[in-house]
Amino acid sequence: MSFSLSERHESLQDFLNERAPNEPEFHQAVHEVIDDIKPIIDQSDAYKDANIFERLVEPERLITFQVAWQNDAGQIEVNRGYRVQFNGAIGPYKGGLRFHPTVNPSVLKFLGFEQTFKNALTGLPMGGAKGGSDFDPTGRSEAEIMRFCVAFMQELHRHIGPDIDVPAGDINVGAREIGYLFGAYRRITGQFEGVLTGKDEAYAGSAMRTEATGYGVVYFLSHMLQAHDDGIDGKRIMISGAGNVATYAAEKAVALGAKVISLSDSSGFIHDPDGLTDEKIAWVRTHKAKPGASLAPYVDQFGGTWTEGKTPWSLEADIAAPCATQNELNEDDAKMLIDNGIAAIIEGANMPATAKAKQVFAQSDVLFAPGKAANAGGVAVSGLEISQNRQRRASGADEVDQALQSIMADIHAVCVSEGKRDGRVDYAKGANIAGFRKVADAMVAQGVG
Ligand code: NDP
Repeated sequence: MSFSLSERHESLQDFLNERAPNEPEFHQAVHEVIDDIKPIIDQSDAYKDANIFERLVEPERLITFQVAWQNDAGQIEVNRGYRVQFNGAIGPYKGGLRFHPTVNPSVLKFLGFEQTFKNALTGLPMGGAKGGSDFDPTGRSEAEIMRFCVAFMQELHRHIGPDIDVPAGDINVGAREIGYLFGAYRRITGQFEGVLTGKDEAYAGSAMRTEATGYGVVYFLSHMLQAHDDGIDGKRIMISGAGNVATYAAEKAVALGAKVISLSDSSGFIHDPDGLTDEKIAWVRTHKAKPGASLAPYVDQFGGTWTEGKTPWSLEADIAAPCATQNELNEDDAKMLIDNGIAAIIEGANMPATAKAKQVFAQSDVLFAPGKAANAGGVAVSGLEISQNRQRRASGADEVDQALQSIMADIHAVCVSEGKRDGRVDYAKGANIAGFRKVADAMVAQGVG
């Protein structure tokens, strides 16, 4: 049997409308890879015979469950929990948990699909997954967050395990939430095992997991610049977001001599023309840990300007690093960045640039690093955490950092080798093809039935 999309559907959009109606984020994620992988599928009878494309865009499992929990007023609230186990061909499922009101099947399928490629790029044996809840932690007390995490794990524990599925954090799920989730799992199952990553080092977490995504973004950026006879030292970088990825990317960029001139959150952005310092970044972390805190008071502390309700893309800089959330950089932003002379875009968040923004970048000379390659450092160190847990040992920070640097160098190299095009590197294409081949080969080898 051979498979061609055009035989059965007029277009990819037609196919997606039928198979995954009303899932715009998921459609966007599939459209992002299809042009790159379709020629690879078309050239391979093995991929066509195994119907790899249709199997790749259908999650192996989508679990939805009720999370009923008690708020501080004694009322029972109900949220929806999810786990999307997208593709397990190359290893146990792995991917973060997100608590945010925008969480729905479309968002989680886009994230799980991307995660499948990303995990393959790390070279570690991890399948792709994602999960979370539409729970909004904004303004919730510490006790409410703990009760929510416990109620969430009451159901999730049935679907995860060290050889089955190992979740981690994502938006609004940091070290505190991972602690509550792990404690709940341990009490429910009676097992102390490597079932979550991003744990504190006091209970079998890995050194450097907290820093890994942001640091990895900057390691990737350094390689990308070096490969184009340039370097990070002295570059002006604008970063969006003020959470885990953004603040650790800022920290590493500053350490390597860059000037980071912005951060943002869901209420606006700060512009600090003098550049962030370790002291300023530490203040941001402490301040943003308070429930519902906006970045706005930064300017009272350190100067600069605060712009309400906007993203930082109107600023002038050499590099833009969107590190907040999906679709936070649109076509107009992309044009503005190019007009203002941007040299490189590096996606710290997952799919932060819209499809149209990416088209604008692709038609220009700017370097563009896709999230599935650039932000893979977090899941890579999660993979190392799984290995440490299995061996019941703890690696030191230097050892993990070395391993992270080496993995980011390898990811950059494979993107270059698969993405070379007319003397330039199409990093998005390189990441898509390299990730695809690994997963597709494993799927073919394992057959069906
Ligand atoms: P955090 O929760 O630590 O921080 C998220 C930041 O983004 C906050 O500053 C938040 O602002 C802002 N933000 C969230 N939603 C929106 C929105 N709709 N509009 C504007 N700003 C928003 O998350 P992370 O730093 O962990 O994750 C950031 C991105 O990186 C996500 O796309 C995530 O999937 C991706 N990622 C994370 C990894 C990790 O290891 N943590 C690994 C790989 C990718 P506010 O505080 O106001 O809510």
